[in-house]
Amino acid sequence: MRRAIFPGSFDPLTNGHLDIIKRSLPLFDEIIIAVLNNVDKHPMFSVRERCSMLKAILPEISNSKCCLTIESFSGLTADFAREREATAIVRGIRAVSDYEYELRMALMNRRLEPAIETVFLMAAEEYSYVSSNLMKQVFELGGRVEGLVPQFVEEKMREKLSKK
Ligand code: ADP
Repeated sequence: MRRAIFPGSFDPLTNGHLDIIKRSLPLFDEIIIAVLNNVDKHPMFSVRERCSMLKAILPEISNSKCCLTIESFSGLTADFAREREATAIVRGIRAVSDYEYELRMALMNRRLEPAIETVFLMAAEEYSYVSSNLMKQVFELGGRVEGLVPQFVEEKMREKLSKK
């Protein structure tokens, strides 16, 4: 049983995240998309909203060979991975700028939990500049993010902004 976790903030879900999830499906029997409940950040969406956005997209991306689930977690990623008996942590790499941070995290996680490997997957070129933060910044200033986040995520962002 090859079980992996894909941890992140997913605030909000982007097509870049979806690209990495789709690429990881053939590699594992089970993937837990792990939504980090990060108390230090000021998120646009609550953890519950982020999880339900991910749940809404599942039917579109699921395949019969890999079981995809969504959970929220707080604390150390390595602890969560161990508790779920995962053997891998999936992370996406967009550009060289991601590498340094990701390398540090992977080495720290390996020190904390030597049995768990971090698996890096390269982003699709068309999403290599897409990050949740950039999507939020552009959207809040009235720019278009069409094609970079799922359509219903864009609608949820619009709803959020109109309530501000
Ligand atoms: P975090 O807050 O931990 O960076 P994110 O939600 O921003 O979490 O990202 C989760 C994972 O998805 C990270 O490994 C990140 O590198 C990856 N990721 C985010 N956006 C993209 C993208 N456009 N292409 C590929 N990977 C991405």
